Amino acid sequence: MRAAVMRNGAIVVDDVPAPVPQSGEVLVKTLACGICGSDLHVLQHAGALARNPEVALGTAVDPRRDMVMGHEFCAEVLDYGPGTGQRFPVGTRVCSVPNIVRQQQIVGIGYSHDVPGGYAEQMVLMEPSLLPVANGLSTDRAALTEPMAVGVHAVEMARLSGDEVTLVVGCGPVGLAVISALKLKGVHPIVAADFSPERRRLAEVMGADIVIDPAARSPYSSWEDAARASEQGAWAPVNPLTGEQRLPPGVFFECVGVPGVIDQMMVGAQPGCRFVIVGVCMEQDHIRPLLAIGKELNLQFVLAYTADEFARTLQHIAEGEIDVDPLITGRVGVSGVARAFTDLKSPEAHAKILVEPWHE
Ligand SMILES: [Zn+2]
Repeated sequence: MRAAVMRNGAIVVDDVPAPVPQSGEVLVKTLACGICGSDLHVLQHAGALARNPEVALGTAVDPRRDMVMGHEFCAEVLDYGPGTGQRFPVGTRVCSVPNIVRQQQIVGIGYSHDVPGGYAEQMVLMEPSLLPVANGLSTDRAALTEPMAVGVHAVEMARLSGDEVTLVVGCGPVGLAVISALKLKGVHPIVAADFSPERRRLAEVMGADIVIDPAARSPYSSWEDAARASEQGAWAPVNPLTGEQRLPPGVFFECVGVPGVIDQMMVGAQPGCRFVIVGVCMEQDHIRPLLAIGKELNLQFVLAYTADEFARTLQHIAEGEIDVDPLITGRVGVSGVARAFTDLKSPEAHAKILVEPWHE
């Protein structure tokens, strides 16, 4: 089958063996698969990940071996392997969390040398993980389930009680997913910051209330103004020493994933602020603990989503509660994947490019 393969630090088109469903697995036809920023990072940092297996999240990356990436997919049931209940008729469109279990090991679909991801014509999924796609829901929208679930999970992990004011730092696909999950929860105001005008536009479309260009204004002083003016600000307790009203608690979502950002946020944050780190930084970073100590900051790192959050996200998209259409900015066939990886480096041009492996 045709696939876009990561080989020797590049993406090339080649024929690779079609996967064979093992016990409990289902063979599917890949209909659409989004390109994730993490895939760009893995392509760039494959060597470093191989040298540091302790940070590779259990996926052993070997830059000498081929890998077919792609973990944000919608697919169609083609055939069932042994030991399956054949729950859905052949031809059913499905989504699934991007992993399977083989020999008691979790294998990440799209980050494995043994199992192809969605930049290929076929994949294998686990039957119990299949979620049928509702008839009225387009394949493109369904394929956005995975990246949007990342936002749903980050907001769940933030355990918002309603008295906080949020700030989203970075409005790439991760930040936009967080914004839409905050909107879904009815959180206001949502303050968001990004240097790119196009991403700021998308942040507004997805539900941010106040959108900041950090080149023009500090996101942190903008957050303070928004916090002071908010309903939560009116409830915030008064400082008994000064008689001044305190700021409501801050919850800052880090959605950039580049070294230096967490430290910068620590400088800008109010005392007691909680950080949810969603951006996937694959390099060495530095923080100055004294900054966090002085303000008693709380750092929560988050990864992916639960199976339940994933299923709920698909349902929210099907019911139109999460509108993903503005995020889809391009479509390519297998031969367009390498170019798409380059194009995605410009935040002005694209948010999410979908790979349709059966198209040219
Ligand atoms: Zn992803």
